[in-house]
Parts: sequence; C-alpha cells; structure tokens
Amino acid sequence: MKQVVWLREEFRLMDNQAILESFKHKAEDEKILLFFNLNPAQFLEGTYNHDYFFQALLKFIEYLKTEGIRMHLIVGTPLEAWQQLIATYPTIETVFINEATAGNGVKRDLEVTAMLEKFGIKVKACQDRHLCGPHAVLKKDGTPYRVFTPYYRQWQAQVKRPYTQNHSVKGEKHWEDNQTLSEKGDRLLKRIVDEKKYDMSHLVGYERAADLLERFVHKVMPQYQETRDIPALFGTSGLSPYIKTGEISIRQIWQVANDAPDSLGKETFLKELAWRDFYHMIDTWFPKQRQEELKEEYQTLAWRHDEKAFKQWQEGMTGYPIIDAGMRQLATTGWMHNRLRMLTASFLTKDLLIDWRWGARHFESYLLDYDPASNTGGWQWAASTGTDAVPYFRIFNPTTQSERYDAKGTYIRRYVPELRHVPDAYIHEPAKMSRAEQQRYQCIIGEDYPAPMVNHKEARERALDFFKQS
Ligand code: FAD
Repeated sequence: MKQVVWLREEFRLMDNQAILESFKHKAEDEKILLFFNLNPAQFLEGTYNHDYFFQALLKFIEYLKTEGIRMHLIVGTPLEAWQQLIATYPTIETVFINEATAGNGVKRDLEVTAMLEKFGIKVKACQDRHLCGPHAVLKKDGTPYRVFTPYYRQWQAQVKRPYTQNHSVKGEKHWEDNQTLSEKGDRLLKRIVDEKKYDMSHLVGYERAADLLERFVHKVMPQYQETRDIPALFGTSGLSPYIKTGEISIRQIWQVANDAPDSLGKETFLKELAWRDFYHMIDTWFPKQRQEELKEEYQTLAWRHDEKAFKQWQEGMTGYPIIDAGMRQLATTGWMHNRLRMLTASFLTKDLLIDWRWGARHFESYLLDYDPASNTGGWQWAASTGTDAVPYFRIFNPTTQSERYDAKGTYIRRYVPELRHVPDAYIHEPAKMSRAEQQRYQCIIGEDYPAPMVNHKEARERALDFFKQS
C-alpha cells in the first residue's frame, strides 16, 4: 500500500481533488487508504458547528460504506496518527491532501510534512476548496488585490476548473480496508454523535445539499438580487454549511448556477462566490488580519470591552427588534441571514463600539458555516477596518433597515416571541407604545422586552468621533 488520501473536510467522493489526483498516480491493482484524523484537542463539544461537522462526517462514512469504501479514523494529534499509520504501513510513498492555506491548518500541514519527509514520504497538496485559489488572481506585479472590483473582473475572466464526476473512484477494489486500524476511531465517532447536543441528522449530507442547489438555482436565483436581502424569506441558497464541510463541491455549485439562463440574480450570486474567494485570498496573504485591523490607521482604535453590553448583544436583548431577532436566530439555529450578520456586526462595532474580535469569536462559536476567512472579512468589513470595507461614516440605522427589509416584522416575530402581538406600526420600535398599548399587546417594555440599550442617533455621533480621532 503506497498511497494515502488524508481528508480533513471535503466530505464527498465526487470532484474531490485529492482523490482525483491520487487515482492519476495509482496502478490498476493498487489500493489507496482513505484516512481522517480525529483530534480531540480540536473538539468543541456542545456547539452547533461541532455537532454539525461530526454528523456530516458520519453521514459521509455511511455513504462510503454503500460504495464499498472504508474511511479509516485514527485518534490523536496529527503526528500521533501518522506515527500509527506509518507503523502499520511502512510502504507508504505519497500522501494526497486538499491544501490548507491559512491558520492552524497550515501549521499542522507543515509539521506533518516535515515528519513524513524524514520517512521519505511525499505530500501532494491540491487546491480543492475554492474556484480561484489565493494565488490565482493577482495584480500584474504578483501582489494581491486589496479592492474587490478589479479582483472580481479578473476572477470572472479566469477559466474555472470543471466539476468532475469521476465514478471510477467508486468500488472496493480501489480502496484499502483495515477494520482494526479504525476501531478506536469508529468507537469515538459513534460516541461523539450519540452524545450530540443538537440533532442535525436531517440536515447533513450531499443529497440535501444537491436538492438545495437545484431548488435555489431554478426557483430563487432569478430574483436573488432582491430575495437575498429579505431575512423572512428562504431567499438565499442556504448552502454555506455544506460548502464549509465540502459536502458539496464549490465547482458543482458554480457550474449548475453558471449553466442557468442569464439573469441579474445569477450575476449577483456568482459574485458572492467570488467574495468568498476574495476573502480567502486576503486571509492567506494577510494572516495577521484575524487578530489585527487590516487598515493600519485603525490599529490603535480604543475599542470598548464592556462585558455587560456585550452580553445584551449576545443574548438578543438590545431593545432593537431586528438586531435581537438576528442574534436569536444564531443562538437557536447556528445560522444567521447575511443581512443580519451585517446589521448585528455593525450594531456591535458602531453603536456599542465593542471590539470586532469579540463579535467574530462569538460568531465562531455558533456558526455552522464558520469560516475564518469569510468571518474575519465580514467583521472587518462591518467595523470599517478591513480592505474594501464599508466607510466608517456609513452606519446602519437598525430601525430603518428593519422597516426596509422586514417591513411587516415577520422575521422579528419568528425569533422574538415577546413581540408576537405587537402590531406592525410598532414592531420596529416597540418602546414607542404607550403604557396602555403595551398592556393591550402583552409586551411591557422593561419587563417583557427591553428598552433600546442605546439611542442610535447619539451612538452614531459617538462612532463618527471615535473613528475621526484615530
Ligand atoms: P448565499 O447568499 O446563497 O451565497 C452563496 C455562497 O456565497 C455562500 O454560501 C458563501 O459561501 C458565499 N458568500 C455569500 N456572501 C458572502 C460574503 N459576504 N462573504 C464571503 N462569502 C460569501 N460566511 C461563511 O461562509 N462563514 C462565516 O463564518 C461567515 N461569517 C460572516 C460574518 C459577517 C459579520 C458577515 C457580514 C458575513 C459572514 N459570512 C460568512 C458571509 C455570509 O453571511 C454567508 O456566507 C451567507 O449568509 C451564507 O448563507 P447562504 O449560503 O445562504 O448564502
């Protein structure tokens, strides 16, 4: 046994670049070992993304079984897992991975590669996760773009690698099957999934992702430029958790969308896929951005570290119904609509002047689709500290945004039940109700639902001063 495919995400068989590459190098009668490292140091038990991730992994493993393929689960740190693999298979020559380009993944791959080299084992890294990798779209002088529009023009012109449905990777004859090697890992995965806090078995898996894609492209995408801003609607693709785990290939999404008839919605959607690549490119070239403001002039901003106000925001108790609905959607489902990510991030950083890193960490611990590059990009955009970010003087007004994008309060009432009986006229500003109205609509301000924690007009002025003084 000479070849190993080491998967870390990319929970799919089709169009998986590491698998495709390994098949190019294998003789007909050779077997490949498929492996996933279960590293307890990385577990975040009791969180949505932990539970989603491991249920998605189990679903993938169960699917592989139906194709006669075993995914070997090895427990320990990556170095420990590799020691075990090499001891079992001293003949290993090449390892195929889908590359990590930023963060801890890079550190892990460097450490493992150095160790494998000592055993004479080669590591072949493939670009799988993005339509255009972080080095594919650069300025003429080889430096990265910091502004999206010129990046996007070049991104559009790039020929995208096609979606490859290579069914010849199926079949047990191609794959090593060593039950003993995986026994401990199989037991651990079963325990993780048995002890889950959140049951997401109905959500995970390629089939649901493919259904969502079909539904989206044919029913929603033609009007996406409008529907994507209305949080009460199912007006976006909902694909982000599947993209994160690689349950569906980004090339499949691009191809199905690109093959659909032209429309403004299609153009807008493909542009969002480019934003994902753009933020990933920025994260790869500027890895410090996860900790510090990309714009140097804002690195000295004295963000507030007010625990009490932060908790009110986290719990959806700001007194601004649209903000509270967004924060509660996140807390109860592990997902938040994009417009709400923008509004809640703006509220934290501009209305409360609280450190964007606190907000980014809160999102990290809840989001099913948590992606460090897009999350940091989104937060630095909202805080006006990032590359091509919203200018500091454009501050979202939570009330007018609420009137515009949730006119009838449908989304608000879904997540903030205390406001269920409040009529449309007050749904965006319930504190404006008289005492008699509060009683009539079963919502006493200060008891059932909080008064606004800040006055937006004053907060806006404070934020403008804050940025001007930097
Ligand atoms: P759709 O509207 O259907 O878009 C399709 C895909 O395009 C998304 O799945 C995503 O992969 C990509 N995309 C869309 N918008 C963006 C964007 N603004 N930036 C980067 N990629 C985008 N997205 C994440 O995947 N993970 C995160 O951790 C994350 N954190 C965010 C934090 C903040 C503060 C903000 C403002 C945005 C964040 N986003 C993040 C981007 C965006 O909100 C989500 O990708 C989107 O809401 C996912 O829903 P969807 O799949 O239905 O999106």
